[in-house]
Amino acid sequence: MTTAERYKKVIDYFRQQAPEAATELTYTNPYELLVAVMLSAQCTDKRVNLTTPALFQQYPTVFDLAEASVDAVFALIRSISYPNNKARHLVAAARQLVDQHQGNIPSKIEDLVKLPGVGRKTANVVVSVVFDQPAMAVDTHVFRVSARIGLTKKAKTPLEAEKQLMRHLSTEVVAVAHHWLILHGRYICVARKPKCTACGLTDVCIWFKKNQQQLKKNQQQLKKNQKHPTTKSVPHEKR
Ligand code: SF4
Repeated sequence: MTTAERYKKVIDYFRQQAPEAATELTYTNPYELLVAVMLSAQCTDKRVNLTTPALFQQYPTVFDLAEASVDAVFALIRSISYPNNKARHLVAAARQLVDQHQGNIPSKIEDLVKLPGVGRKTANVVVSVVFDQPAMAVDTHVFRVSARIGLTKKAKTPLEAEKQLMRHLSTEVVAVAHHWLILHGRYICVARKPKCTACGLTDVCIWFKKNQQQLKKNQQQLKKNQKHPTTKSVPHEKR
């Protein structure tokens, strides 16, 4: 199967399964999305969604957050992973947005990554979801699922994976493909034990093929061993 054929099959499958895939983070405007994505690093969307209502009630705009103390923000996000760093980054980013962008969320990746606590993944999510730009945010799910299926080959870093995916995905499909891969990784192609029996990509997935072959080999070996059991040498007893 060529790479182009693999991409086509995967896109067709997801289009059929989840045509409207979207972020599971709750937000109502670009400011809230940026904050939610920053909080979601190393944390579940579920936990973030439980935390942000109180945070947004206290700081409804970027201007309010820019005036906040780090300690007060920390108190509101303490149940999230790395609350110290995230509280510092949120306040510093809000201040930078007010000072340098009139309180607006920039639409360019190169401006977003200059904000404290905003990496390429966060920037890609924001430009893709808010500004509808073709950007592929590669998080742990996207990285793992793409490699398993064979959409990426030997990518060592998220940036390498991003470049490979962007080479093959058309601009119309990039944004939704990001959500497809995240949701697939979150619910089906989970890290430890992918649920291949519930997955419709077994005929294109390289990981599945390899593991099936290994499984068959193990079973054949097991049958062989049962037919011709090897006699283990038992050491003579000392007299
Ligand atoms: S077949 Fe298994 S490993 Fe491959 S994408 Fe589906 S769940 Fe993941």
